[in-house]
Amino acid sequence: MKILVSSCLLGEDVKYDGGNNSVALNPKVSFSLKELFMDILCENEIYSFCPEVAGGLTIPRIPAEIVKQDKPFIVQNEEGKDVTINFLLGAKKALDLCKEENIKVALLKSKSPSCGNGQIYDGTFSGTLIDGFGLSAKLLKENGIEVFNEKELKELAKFIKTNK
Ligand code: SF4
Repeated sequence: MKILVSSCLLGEDVKYDGGNNSVALNPKVSFSLKELFMDILCENEIYSFCPEVAGGLTIPRIPAEIVKQDKPFIVQNEEGKDVTINFLLGAKKALDLCKEENIKVALLKSKSPSCGNGQIYDGTFSGTLIDGFGLSAKLLKENGIEVFNEKELKELAKFIKTNK
């Protein structure tokens, strides 16, 4: 199965701080979950994608949060600069890739203003989480693509098994 995966989860240094969110090398992730993650990577066709980089932002970059959660969305970085267009562009490119390659499922990093699914930061840069979706995750979901995060690897594995 084709799966779109947040590049940072694969260990690529695309995060705002120049680092990554590698699942395989994260000491907080259990070995059994790492094994499951590696099985998913090895048994499927993985499309690595970082919406923020695809949207024209640099590595490193100033962290950003969604400050207005409804349309028209507003995304600002911590210095108050409006970066909404970069986030919208990244989301559109993620959707384009899924459409071009017929990708029906995505594994996206939790809490990110682009990739987050289920919970995101509230736009106050205070570390407060609220229910919601990053702009890429939201657009993919609205277009019928199943979105999981790195804490839902078992659910993703089940989805893959039942949709082969
Ligand atoms: Fe990772 Fe997504 Fe943030 Fe890129 S935009 S660093 S893929 S969470």
